[in-house]
Amino acid sequence: MTIRLTNTATRRKEEFTPLDPENVRMYVCGPTVYDRAHLGNARPVIVFDVLFRLLRHVYGADHVTYVRNFTDVDDKINARAAASGRSISEITDETIGWYLDDMAAIGALEPTHMPRATAYIDQMIAFIEDLITRGHAYEAEGHVLFAVDRWPEGYGKLSGRSVDDMIAGARVEVAPYKRNPMDFVMWKPSSDDLPGWESPWGRGRPGWHIECSAMAQDLLGDTFDIHGGGNDLMFPHHENEIAQSKCAGHGFARYWLHNEMLQVEGRKMSKSLGNFFTVRDLLDQGVPGEVIRFVFLSTHYRKPMDWTTEKAEQAEATLLKWRDLTKGVVPSVPSHEVVDLLSNDLNTAGALSKLHELANLLLAFESDADVPKFDVNGKFEEFMASANLLGLLAPKMGDWAKQSYDFSEISDYLISLRNNAMENRDFSKVDAFKKMLIEANVEVRMSKTDIDLKRGKGFEKSKFERQLKAYFDGLFPWAKS
Ligand code: AMP
Ligand code: ZN
Repeated sequence: MTIRLTNTATRRKEEFTPLDPENVRMYVCGPTVYDRAHLGNARPVIVFDVLFRLLRHVYGADHVTYVRNFTDVDDKINARAAASGRSISEITDETIGWYLDDMAAIGALEPTHMPRATAYIDQMIAFIEDLITRGHAYEAEGHVLFAVDRWPEGYGKLSGRSVDDMIAGARVEVAPYKRNPMDFVMWKPSSDDLPGWESPWGRGRPGWHIECSAMAQDLLGDTFDIHGGGNDLMFPHHENEIAQSKCAGHGFARYWLHNEMLQVEGRKMSKSLGNFFTVRDLLDQGVPGEVIRFVFLSTHYRKPMDWTTEKAEQAEATLLKWRDLTKGVVPSVPSHEVVDLLSNDLNTAGALSKLHELANLLLAFESDADVPKFDVNGKFEEFMASANLLGLLAPKMGDWAKQSYDFSEISDYLISLRNNAMENRDFSKVDAFKKMLIEANVEVRMSKTDIDLKRGKGFEKSKFERQLKAYFDGLFPWAKS
């Protein structure tokens, strides 16, 4: 089995060979924890979760170490604490709890280690001291800065820029204590009202980039296999991580993977466009986590992905069909075609197409079409295992499907009521039925030509079936069972 991955560092799709197949090591930059994860934040989580699952499949579940950090020291967190009057730890603890719940809801396995930056301050200080000793960093006015000039051959390579271009393109005001405008902060002083730790340079706090260099070294060693994140992190964050670690003499990451950004209905997701929402917003609106995951998997990680309501609706219909098809099925081994597709630079869209193909064969068999039993031998189990490899159809993610309801008969009934009402000019029965539906948390949308019924927030299938029965029992008491 050969896995091939597009390595940002070489800009080529390369064969993946781990340093140690007994311990394949991956680091992914995690969230800064001051607010709910927005839908875009879910993209790297799902992309690298699929890679984690694939690596576990190929090298064995106990032979992969996956680290994803929590940035719990950051000026955005400090600002949130000051504005809300709450303590920093209250905010970061709460946000980490939310994050873990939301990512579990979209079917992400927990990484092996989820270090918090604030638990690694000693390692960061030691890292910075070493860089000063090596002449790659300098202290100025309580700050410690990385000197990009001291590593001109390496700085900018990942993102394909030269230091001179960067200086020409930078429009920020340059702090007076920087020797070179591109030098970046590894340590900065903290006033008494800000979080700070004692250091050789006085009381202060780390810059953002040093935490990943220090935690990756501590948990994965000087050299490890894969480093991932969104492509917005390529510069400056990943460039700076590389500079720090390479200049400390580490091999650091061998394969760099970057996911493209998420958009919503064809536009950049942003608060000003009013199309900004969190994973929790979607879950609260009744969009199942498994549906969110399915939509994400349908676009290759290196392409921009567009979230649309239409895709979510289609994904829901597909998953319902697949869940129905695999009731009681015990997974065996994933289809080698699905594994091959994923091994080719995580072709999740191709893997889903293959699952569609398999499902159609199984559906044809179930509906007594001309499919010989021989053709589906072991295929239900293989289908289930393949879906599981993508993090789909797991029993614990399926509660939503138990609440799904086929509203077609009900909407036919409502249409007939409405037709009668238009003839009789009496809409009381339509109104009464509609009221019952709304009380049962069904979303009712009626246009002149169409009636659209959907599960709304708080809809419970069994309760709805009882209400429906009571309603018809009231209408037709003679038919009461
Ligand atoms: P942050 O908390 O902003 O550092 O982001 C956490 C992760 O989410 C990083 O890997 C980002 O690259 C990723 N990310 C942020 N916005 C988006 C987006 N719109 N689409 C995809 N990934 C994103
Ligand atoms: Zn990082």
